[in-house]
Amino acid sequence: MDKVLSVSLGEIALKGLNRKYFEDQLIKHMRRAIKDLGFEKIYKEQGKIYIEAEETKFSQMINRLRKVFGLVYISPCIRVGKDVEVIEKAVLKMVKCKIEKDKIKTFKIDTNRADKNFPIKSPDFSRQMGGVVLKTFNELSVDVHNPDTLIYIDIKQNVYIYADKIKGYGGMPIGTNGKGLLLLSGGIDSPVAGFLMAKRGVEISAVHYHSYPFTSERAEEKVKDLASILSRYTGKITMYSVNLLNIQKEINAKCPEKEMTILSRRFMMRIAEGIAEKQKLNALITGESLGQVASQTIEGISVTNAAVKLPVFRPLIGLDKIDIIEIAKDIETFETSTLPFEDCCTVFLPKHPVTKPKIEDIEKSEEALDINYLIDKAIESMTITTIE
Ligand code: ATP
Ligand code: MG
Repeated sequence: MDKVLSVSLGEIALKGLNRKYFEDQLIKHMRRAIKDLGFEKIYKEQGKIYIEAEETKFSQMINRLRKVFGLVYISPCIRVGKDVEVIEKAVLKMVKCKIEKDKIKTFKIDTNRADKNFPIKSPDFSRQMGGVVLKTFNELSVDVHNPDTLIYIDIKQNVYIYADKIKGYGGMPIGTNGKGLLLLSGGIDSPVAGFLMAKRGVEISAVHYHSYPFTSERAEEKVKDLASILSRYTGKITMYSVNLLNIQKEINAKCPEKEMTILSRRFMMRIAEGIAEKQKLNALITGESLGQVASQTIEGISVTNAAVKLPVFRPLIGLDKIDIIEIAKDIETFETSTLPFEDCCTVFLPKHPVTKPKIEDIEKSEEALDINYLIDKAIESMTITTIE
């Protein structure tokens, strides 16, 4: 009777011919997440992935594995051979454990016979095992509709008995859907945007704009802290830090004050696109949410978008602030995001920003600027950090 962890896959299971590739990617990320805890073996068996490790490590492993995208739930299992008496013992052990831990009064057995060579059909086997449980624990009763616990029996090459299903985030393994460059500010929204795209399988790099020495080094540290929290889900993040101060000064000197925000936003997008092209990244990601602030009107977003050709993913576009905050709290970026440090956008904040910019006006204002020169300069002097 061994204890193992089982991992169920979500959408990956639908991927048909690509299934093996998705599974292998998932296993790669699972290994990365738990390698320092030490495990014996990770193997696949008929649609699930199993981990052999010391039971004392299980809760720590589950905590880490929950954050690996592509995984829907994790269960601590008892693994036995296809011997009815041994299966009985394992089921009783699992039930005893549930009585002690969760004080269950009712149960239901759910058998899944993937190995059709096993001689007893699933419903019959569930009934048979239910009978054994009732005889041993006469304080328990069966409730087929709303049991306190389900006891699952998966009959495959081995037989797995489990009761708990600990939820993961689902989604797809990182790297199975290309690479994205996240415009990461110190705010609440952009880390959440990065999380959501990573959950869809996008490998994340990040670019942050600062206005040093107008903004402090501590403000930059905060953004690195955010990237570090994100990396618990995404794995290693390459972060580009770009000083925007020169560009902001140029805009300030040569363009209408009310266009400051939208003009610097267009530079952020262009610089990000420049980095993405060099690093062969496929898309930009921002934390914009329609109507949330003056620059996120439909006109503002259109004009920002028009500065680049790469697709821009805005996973928060239709979310309310409270929903975004809820995710930020869940993924543990909220507290760091709300630390009070200045952002580069606040340095030259216009008193009355345009809320409905017109692309013709903005392009006209930009004629006063040497755009390519400013972008090249900014990219040349950027610093690159690897966040783990
Ligand atoms: P956030 O909470 O992510 O800062 P926000 O509500 O403050 O967003 P804006 O300031 O309008 O909204 O920024 C919109 C998006 O532009 C951000 O979500 C982020 O993707 C990008 N962005 C803004 N400032 C920066 C910055 N200093 N560095 C990198 N990206 C930025
Ligand atoms: Mg912000």
